[in-house]
Amino acid sequence: MANHYDALLRGGRVVDPANGIDAVMDVAVADGRIVQVEPSIRGTAAREHDVAGRVVMPGIVDMHVHLSEWMGGPVGHRMLALAGVTTALDMAGPIEGMVRTTAAHGVGLTVGCISYVRPGHTVGSANPSRAEVADYLASAMGEGAIGLKLLGGHFPLTQEGSATVIAACAAEGAYVAFHAGTLETPNPSVATLAEACGLAAGHPLHMPHVNSYCRGFSEPGVIEGQAAIEVLAGHPAIWSESYLAPFNGFPGTCSNGVPESNAARRVLTAGGYPHTEAGMERAIADGWIHVQAEIGAGAHAGVVGLVTGADGVAAWRAAATAVGVSAMVNGPEPRIHLVTAKRPDGAFAIDALATDGGGLPRNDIVQRGLPLVRMDALTVAEFVTKASWTPARALGLAAKGHLAPGADGDITVLDMERLEPVLSYAGGRRLMEAGEVFAGPSRFVTTPAGRAAVEAAGLDAVVVEPGAMLPPRNG
Ligand SMILES: [Zn+2]
Repeated sequence: MANHYDALLRGGRVVDPANGIDAVMDVAVADGRIVQVEPSIRGTAAREHDVAGRVVMPGIVDMHVHLSEWMGGPVGHRMLALAGVTTALDMAGPIEGMVRTTAAHGVGLTVGCISYVRPGHTVGSANPSRAEVADYLASAMGEGAIGLKLLGGHFPLTQEGSATVIAACAAEGAYVAFHAGTLETPNPSVATLAEACGLAAGHPLHMPHVNSYCRGFSEPGVIEGQAAIEVLAGHPAIWSESYLAPFNGFPGTCSNGVPESNAARRVLTAGGYPHTEAGMERAIADGWIHVQAEIGAGAHAGVVGLVTGADGVAAWRAAATAVGVSAMVNGPEPRIHLVTAKRPDGAFAIDALATDGGGLPRNDIVQRGLPLVRMDALTVAEFVTKASWTPARALGLAAKGHLAPGADGDITVLDMERLEPVLSYAGGRRLMEAGEVFAGPSRFVTTPAGRAAVEAAGLDAVVVEPGAMLPPRNG
């Protein structure tokens, strides 16, 4: 008897390291889930794809993106879909507005959010009390967030305040990530990273963009990268990721004639510009700072890229300076080393490959990750581990990151010659094919506390239990 499926992907090289599969297989999808992965599946489907010669992997999970209005990110849903991503974690929020903008701008991905801890915005001071942090965490989770983000590199807390946030999240089983940096140690370096790891005091923590502490300010970047790896090896509860893009990203916002973010000031210093609005303008005009601006047209309308020079200044002014900007501060060697380096036991030194993208135009897990596969610096299975399986585990999403029957119908198909994603399914629905996005309803990762808020916005809730996120890394 022949079955009828929602989708059949025929003849691709299925690479699913969690289930030990690397072979030419057919994949059948029905009712939002993977139902069969077999050498040859009999039956028909509403949609059949001949994917011979392609790699079929569990949907890409980018555990570090920006999709909130604050970071100019709502357009990022479409940009992520075009990049082959099916699940993403927004790493700042704020959660206020995130569920609404996901309902309005989402195209069918599964997204979650951790909400920033920002003095004067979400907490009163740079040294919030445990009770104040607990209150903010509870309200953020009630709005749908799965945890909190410390933005030390932009808006640092004290060491004590930072440790308080991590401990408060641990007490609730919430997710927490720390862009390292405190009032005492504000400048990014391996020492800042080590301070942040120590402040975690053995609690679970997501250490984002490890490459950003390895920009060669004190030693060659690749030496700093190795030092960062050794710091993380001493903190086995900490999950880490790095990204491969040369560009950083920071708010270009100026108020009272000066840039608001510490990161903006550091980039201005590195380029030899004063820490003023006029200095920002000159840095953009000269091509040192690049400004996020819409570059897409037609089917890609709303897609954001980076512009500089006179066009950059115009885009920055048009946004009244409140727009994301970037500078090319990430050297190549540490970026590559951090993605490929392994520990003595064979595990990756940095757990996941992420982008810090979304609305920031660097959704390059495939674009910059597959060249490492071509160079034999990663196997295809290792790429899948870092881009899907490991981040799904960190998020506590047991039905993602692999293709066993019953797993979520999240699939990314890769063209290994052109180094591009060519097809994706999310929740059993076609999300992207050949550069076109087929928008559908999004899902929002939340905890039981946020379920009502997510559903009230008309989104399906993907509920993770507190404590399931950031599980023991070696468990
Ligand atoms: Zn980020």
